[in-house]
Amino acid sequence: MYHHLQKELNELDTLLDKVRKQGVHYLKNLRQRPASTTHQVGDAPGLNEEGLGAEGTLELFNQRLEPLMVSSSGPRYLGFVIGGSTPASIAGDWLASIYDQNTQTVEGQGDISAVIELETIKLLLDLFELPPDFFGGFVTGATMSNFTCLAVARQWYGRELGKDYAKDGIRDDVHILTTTPHSSSVKSLAMLGLGSRNITKVNTLKGNREAMDIDELENKIEELQGSPFILISSAGTVNTVDFDDFKAIAKLRQKHRFWWHIDAAFGGFAICSPAYKHLMDGWEQADSITVDCHKWLNVPYESAFFLVREEHKLLQAETFQNSNAPYLGDPMENFNYLNFLPENSRRLKALPVWFSLTAYGKKGYRDIVENAIEMTQLFGNFIEQNPYFELLAPVRLNTVCFTLAGAENQDKVNAFLTALNDTGKVFMTPTVYNSKKGVRAAFVNWMTDTRDIDIITKEMNLVIKKV
Ligand SMILES: *Cc1c(COP(=O)(O)O)cnc(C)c1O
Repeated sequence: MYHHLQKELNELDTLLDKVRKQGVHYLKNLRQRPASTTHQVGDAPGLNEEGLGAEGTLELFNQRLEPLMVSSSGPRYLGFVIGGSTPASIAGDWLASIYDQNTQTVEGQGDISAVIELETIKLLLDLFELPPDFFGGFVTGATMSNFTCLAVARQWYGRELGKDYAKDGIRDDVHILTTTPHSSSVKSLAMLGLGSRNITKVNTLKGNREAMDIDELENKIEELQGSPFILISSAGTVNTVDFDDFKAIAKLRQKHRFWWHIDAAFGGFAICSPAYKHLMDGWEQADSITVDCHKWLNVPYESAFFLVREEHKLLQAETFQNSNAPYLGDPMENFNYLNFLPENSRRLKALPVWFSLTAYGKKGYRDIVENAIEMTQLFGNFIEQNPYFELLAPVRLNTVCFTLAGAENQDKVNAFLTALNDTGKVFMTPTVYNSKKGVRAAFVNWMTDTRDIDIITKEMNLVIKKV
């Protein structure tokens, strides 16, 4: 055994204890750590001939890279939609690395990690109040979840025309209807050969909305004259967290032939709050659903899951079966995750989720979600009442989309945002909404509280006077 490995095997507790202490120190000081850095990483040292050993490597990491790590898992990182990690999820994540299972099959191959994954999906169905006839699994993020769901939709579309696209490739123009899809759905259409330009856009509702106009959807459906189509709907758009009307879409399903996909990456968590759960009414009738776990569930990256109705399982197997490996057997008889999603070898991504859901339960997640909504409202009120800023859209759930007040200040939006992020006290990301430059602040972190809102608004008041 190589000498570093031998030594570390003998002194495992020393190494892991150092890492544990460092992790605790990081987490306990998250509030003090900058949310953004302007420092550059210096030249990379390159591959070492002898190796530094794990402790030497930890020292190098701490010297070169650790000081530049930003508090993206902390309470004032409001850019994109970035969750943190609950303590239980970190425990589960550490153990997923330590036990290092390759999550595949539920029987016959000697490990139970896929059973844990299926069990975790059941917990999620319970949290999201969805019926048990969804099959689910973990992928790296909502992008891959959208990809997985739309891949099955593609196979469904082919079957509607009597074809097998997985085997023969796509030979038809595939009709895709959507209104405000996330960029990752558009990217998935590109990756799937469906073509990102083949989207038919359905108009939004009038009045500063990003949700689909259902009457217009019906018109578009009529124009298809009975041809099948794929509908990509949104439970929470990224700019303004608008929701398509799922009850109305569910009704249309009684009359028309389409695959219904819902991207509920973070908006699906509305269901955890009694005051907002009505936004999700009807979603249980979708064919496929995307939800991210590394956002509002607050587990470490990379974690998301897909849900596809059990009745489509054969289509899913046709799409993803790893069919050149005869030792894996018939995908419909010998269950193995690799026949139902893009990856073959897989980390036990379910474990952090299993830990966190088991640790905090429905009430814990209700609390996390409602707290984030409350913080969003506090921050939204600040924007509304401050003469220097204005909302670009009403605050609907957990995102505030705003800009500098006055058309003449559009030129200053980027400078303001850069100066604000450079304080290191908060991190937000730019956007464009209704042709206006703006800023988005998204609240999903489990730690954010009123102290953070005070710090953020104080900094904003200082920075706005300087730009
Ligand atoms: C974040 C997000 C995605 C993409 O998710 P990743 O986890 O970054 O892959 C897709 N859809 C929506 C609505 C999102 O918010």
